[in-house]
Amino acid sequence: MKKVVKFGGSSLASATQFAKVGDIIRADETRVYVVPSAPGKRNNKDTKVTDMLYACYAAAEADEDFTPQLKKIKERYDSIINGLHLNMSLDAEFKEIKERFANHEGSMYAASRGEYLNGKIMAYYLGYEFIDPAEVIRFNDEGEYEAELTNQILRNKLSGIDRAVIPGFFGAKESGEIVTFSRGGSDITGSIVARAAHADVYENWTDVSGVMVADPRIVKNPATISVITYKELRELSYMGASVLHEDAVFPVRRANIPINIKNTNAPEDPGTMIVGSTCHKPEYTITGVAGRKGFVAVNVDKDMMNSEVGFGRKVLSAFEENNISFEHMPSGIDTMTVMVHQEEFEGKEQQVLAAIQRYTHPDVLDVESGLALIAVVGRGMRSNRGTAGRIFSALAHAKINVRMIDQGSSELNIIIGVSNDDFEIAIRAIYDIFVETRL
Ligand code: ASP
Repeated sequence: MKKVVKFGGSSLASATQFAKVGDIIRADETRVYVVPSAPGKRNNKDTKVTDMLYACYAAAEADEDFTPQLKKIKERYDSIINGLHLNMSLDAEFKEIKERFANHEGSMYAASRGEYLNGKIMAYYLGYEFIDPAEVIRFNDEGEYEAELTNQILRNKLSGIDRAVIPGFFGAKESGEIVTFSRGGSDITGSIVARAAHADVYENWTDVSGVMVADPRIVKNPATISVITYKELRELSYMGASVLHEDAVFPVRRANIPINIKNTNAPEDPGTMIVGSTCHKPEYTITGVAGRKGFVAVNVDKDMMNSEVGFGRKVLSAFEENNISFEHMPSGIDTMTVMVHQEEFEGKEQQVLAAIQRYTHPDVLDVESGLALIAVVGRGMRSNRGTAGRIFSALAHAKINVRMIDQGSSELNIIIGVSNDDFEIAIRAIYDIFVETRL
């Protein structure tokens, strides 16, 4: 049995949190590879070290005096070192960082130091070997992640090391230039390490006891999901549920390694298991509900559209030419709607509309903004009759006007469009009907 354990920023924000993490790792000797984030927020008003690094580097790049900011960052690490009574110092590392900042080494290099330094402390604290991700996580010259090459290099490296700390969030090009993943990317590193190590499980430790059925900012104390499939999670995260970085699922999914989301502050809680497939019946008909505001519907009407071959392609090419990806495309006999992100669409709106006009000569072409999309997700919906009926009667009961419906043929999700103003009420109504009343 071998586990890869990743700890998020809030789990490593202070010496107290570090000590909890140490206890967790020592409590289970199969926790052999550890992937730390940079220190996160200790309280609501605090700043993440990664954000401090970006700000500090911006000052360096503008040739301003960045030493006071760098000093503050060093203080964060020193308070962890001192709080744990470790006999180590990061003076040499900070001297080098200062020089490299002054030489304008790049903001990715700057941000990566958050994880790098936390990894140094973690390795010392645990007595584990330190592996620099710059040597094992590889990006190509365009800065794209190289999955297979990394897997080979990392697998080789790990085969000779029983226990190690591999900081999250970054790697390097062959030239040594540091490249980071997007924000929250330590989740991806954990997944990469789990795949390369042939781990039995990838434990992702955070500050909540798993993935919740609904967003806790909308639904009070939502239930936790005990088992969810990668596919379901992907649907939910795409629609705004934020537990894991969106890309973190891919490496472990290939190797069919389950992810266990766990809570550093409540280690006894079972958390959520994220798996490839399962015979575990979900507690409720739905696994989860999530959504996002800020969509636009572009409506195209034309008599006899139905019989005009290539109509859909012409409409979509107007979006493609403007580099806009579309979310959904419900259609009727003589109407077609394309749903897009308002942010993406706004700046290019007139070009897109002009192109649709030119290509299709519609009778009506209009745009409706201020829409929200809600995804009701669940593998249990396939075998249950009347799920859609229950959703829509709950929404009708809550006096919500449904603007769009889309159900994929996988029956894994039902997408509902409502007005932005109805978004929260709709989520609560759906949660209530399936979880509270267990219909
Ligand atoms: N420290 C990085 C961030 O704040 C990466 C991570 O924590 O996963 O985005």
